[in-house]
Amino acid sequence: CGIFAYMNYRVPRTRKEIFETLIKGLQRLEYRGYDSAGVAIDGNNHEVKERHIQLVKKRGKVKALDEELYKQDSMDLKVEFETHFGIAHTRWATHGVPSAVNSHPQRSDKGNEFVVIHNGIITNYKDLRKFLESKGYEFESETDTETIAKLIKYVFDNRETEDITFSTLVERVIQQLEGAFALVFKSVHYPGEAVATRGSPLLIGVRSKYKLSTEQIPILYRTCTLENVKNICKTRMKRLDSSACLHAVGDKAVEFFFASDASAIIEHTNRVIFLEDDDIAAVADGKLSIHRVKRSASDDPSRAIQTLQ
Ligand code: GLU
Repeated sequence: CGIFAYMNYRVPRTRKEIFETLIKGLQRLEYRGYDSAGVAIDGNNHEVKERHIQLVKKRGKVKALDEELYKQDSMDLKVEFETHFGIAHTRWATHGVPSAVNSHPQRSDKGNEFVVIHNGIITNYKDLRKFLESKGYEFESETDTETIAKLIKYVFDNRETEDITFSTLVERVIQQLEGAFALVFKSVHYPGEAVATRGSPLLIGVRSKYKLSTEQIPILYRTCTLENVKNICKTRMKRLDSSACLHAVGDKAVEFFFASDASAIIEHTNRVIFLEDDDIAAVADGKLSIHRVKRSASDDPSRAIQTLQ
């Protein structure tokens, strides 16, 4: 029911600061209602070669999750990350009872290679789950969301080239999904990268003390207040067709905030971008790019599955 994610790029932050930012973001979204909450963060410093993603999930209040975070002995709070991507979620259960295992982030496998947070409902999840189970992927939750985490791993495991990008993987995944969804993905295979898609509301806040390179999309990166956001969206509609690809933001220190509503972002920055339906936003090397995908609208889920095989 609430999505919040935070990336610091070349802005050193301790694990404690990252926790605080994520928890505060979730608390700002609490008014939307929820039954459980969870986060995914890096278990090790990026300097360490062997990375892993750590999940902490809890049924109940954000406060309970907050307490749980500080109980994790394996996580040194003082460790500093130059670049880190943390994702957080409050869940309003639609498929599967409120419980830690059904909370988000949902994961691709026991090694947490891909994790995802989701707002909304995947209507064809049963067919997708059946398909993935037939390929040997084992499910642990009752959620529709888990199919997304498994599906991205399936696409990754069956990739035809080694250098496939994170956003290409996500694009392939969302082409198989039906329903309503805002998603944010994190992966051990793409450290320091983020991919988000919008089918329910999602916006991205950008904060940097450096001048951002704004030439290509001045209207988007103009510092905007919430009042003029509507106009910006309208302009954006005109500028961006389905094949457009936007690149922005220099290679300097920058922070990105992803949230399902502005109340969680506005205290950090007033420079925001509202994603539109079927936008994929990707951050890699501190650069944000947004492009619109054409989803193959199909009312026959088995046809979508066919194209996966
Ligand atoms: N349908 C998903 C679930 O039940 C997401 C619910 C939500 O938007 O919080 O896990």
